[in-house]
Amino acid sequence: MPFFAMTGVLVSGGYKSAALYRHCLEQRLAVAAVFVKTGLRADPVACHHAAGVVRAHGPAADGRLTTVEYTMQDALGSHWSITGHKVPGPSSALDDRNIPGLLPAIVTAAAAFLIRLGIVKICVGLTAPSQAADRDLATLRLVESVLRSQFGSAIELYAPLSSRTLVDLVREYGTLDLTLSCLAPIGFGPCGECFKCVERREAFRAAGVVDPAAPDGPRPDRSWRT
Ligand SMILES: [Zn+2]
Repeated sequence: MPFFAMTGVLVSGGYKSAALYRHCLEQRLAVAAVFVKTGLRADPVACHHAAGVVRAHGPAADGRLTTVEYTMQDALGSHWSITGHKVPGPSSALDDRNIPGLLPAIVTAAAAFLIRLGIVKICVGLTAPSQAADRDLATLRLVESVLRSQFGSAIELYAPLSSRTLVDLVREYGTLDLTLSCLAPIGFGPCGECFKCVERREAFRAAGVVDPAAPDGPRPDRSWRT
């Protein structure tokens, strides 16, 4: 299949992007799955889960997950996403949860790589409704405008799940095994405490689905954190 007929999908190892991946395959799209390594504390574990998602939930058209290196370590310095210290919990403020510059960096790096292959349609796993989702959607539109100025007007960024909540997705896709939605994983498992873990736990409960990947509460071994 020619690359221009393919759709790029950003896969992070988390539930939302796995649902996006499944959604795109169900739409009979030929998918090129991409994970962008930015050097976050959670990256190695997230990439492991992203590869598992691609293997388990239907092979990508090119048969594998492609990783693109685009480090944010120098830019983020001692931010919690790099150090793993003081990762925001469920009561944290929206601004404290943000990883400054990460979304535009990931989308730009993935797009530049995919465009080089002739792939100009790219899907990102945003869900609704939340202030964070609204902010991320606005960012996506701005990044699309920048990419078009650099690479041409054919570039299209999509967030096809942006009108769906995480609860909606869990009801439709069930457990989506092998996903990990955590910013401070312990080993290859979730910490159970960060806002991503709590968001996922509450969504599974609301959907009436048992999450095999998540403990029902904080895990005991957090010795590497302060
Ligand atoms: Zn967590």
